[in-house]
Amino acid sequence: MDRVVKWSHGSDTICVLCNKAPESRNHLFFECDTSAQVWEYVVKGILKHEFTTIWSEIIHIISDKKREKMSLYCIRYAFQAVLYAIWRERNQIKHGEKMIPISTLKRVIEKGIRNKFSLVCKKRAKGMGELLQFWFSTRI
Ligand SMILES: [Zn+2]
Repeated sequence: MDRVVKWSHGSDTICVLCNKAPESRNHLFFECDTSAQVWEYVVKGILKHEFTTIWSEIIHIISDKKREKMSLYCIRYAFQAVLYAIWRERNQIKHGEKMIPISTLKRVIEKGIRNKFSLVCKKRAKGMGELLQFWFSTRI
């Protein structure tokens, strides 16, 4: 919305997830209290002390090729899953739908990730045999 307002004056730029701050990429991902809660729930167990809600730091983490393969895969997949879910939720609210409870959003994302990882394990992807186990071990 910080971009839209530049060509469409009078647009409502306030973040529809928290109604507290102007919406920008950095706000939505994940300076926003609401999206930060979801992000934290999904990745805190993997990132632990590295956990951050700052976009540039997240990009740095997911670009780190020295990180252990399974951990990197988990973080990257979780990142896109949360991004997609938050963006989708944001669009639905913008189109007049009621916001779903954060707890539901968390559970939907978690289930999606679990299903994906289960599939990767079943396909016996190289080096990913323990992916689901790894994921569960991070769910503290
Ligand atoms: Zn917000």
